[in-house]
Amino acid sequence: MRHAMTIDVEDYYQVSAMEASVARDQWEKMESRVVRNTQKILALFAEHNVQATFFVLGWVAERNPALVREIVAQKHELASHGYSHRLVYNQTPEVFREETLRGKALLEDITGVPVRGYRAASYSITPRSSWALDTLIEAGFEYDSSIFPVRHDRYGMPGTPQAPYQLIRPNGGKIVEFPLSAAHLLGYRLPAAGGGYFRLYPYWLTRLLLTSIERWQRIPFIFYLHPWEVDPDQPRIPAGKLSTFRHYNNLDVCEERLRRLLKDFSFTTVDAVLRQQGFWGANQVPEAVIA
Ligand SMILES: [Zn+2]
Repeated sequence: MRHAMTIDVEDYYQVSAMEASVARDQWEKMESRVVRNTQKILALFAEHNVQATFFVLGWVAERNPALVREIVAQKHELASHGYSHRLVYNQTPEVFREETLRGKALLEDITGVPVRGYRAASYSITPRSSWALDTLIEAGFEYDSSIFPVRHDRYGMPGTPQAPYQLIRPNGGKIVEFPLSAAHLLGYRLPAAGGGYFRLYPYWLTRLLLTSIERWQRIPFIFYLHPWEVDPDQPRIPAGKLSTFRHYNNLDVCEERLRRLLKDFSFTTVDAVLRQQGFWGANQVPEAVIA
């Protein structure tokens, strides 16, 4: 079974954990490391012969069009991570709509390739921002990967499906959802597939949890990482205790763990995994109404 490998392309100072520490109007003045970090990941994928999906932040694409073209030239899938990395539930529907269209158009103008997939900043499509799904459908996205079926302080829609499904809105609108992966352990749903969890858990635990999704749930998982997570030398930004831990924990072991992961599991793009699961055709696929 092949699983989805995804990279959320943003810089170390743009993450939600740093939102209170680095004001948006300071972004231009920060040392940019996103190009070299993304190139490091591109090289790693080339070495392991892996195609992945890159959800690129519009703000980054605007300033680094050559990087966006490089991602496409290396046969990876290009998708959108929105424009400004503001959490969806902190935006008005009007601003979200404007940013969503802007982020998509930017990537398409740079590459000439249609952008079909979307991932919200910090998975911030939750019960209070589910209206955003209508905006994504209206904008022409074919799939979304923003819903975490777990409980968390910043994101989560507990109780929603864990395998990819045809998401149906109460108004009849449809979009394919590839939810962020969680494993079942001792009666809990445990986030298992990337980012801070990948750095927090020892590698054997990640491998165990991902293997359990593959063998017991018998569904593909979706793994995610950020370019700054393979950059232990990034400048340290003073932030709160929890944010500091979430951002800096185990940065120095992340690249090595990623290498092991690429050897232990088989990965491809979100688009290819969805095709493998019967989406994009006339097949019967799982459906769920998300209000
Ligand atoms: Zn992000």
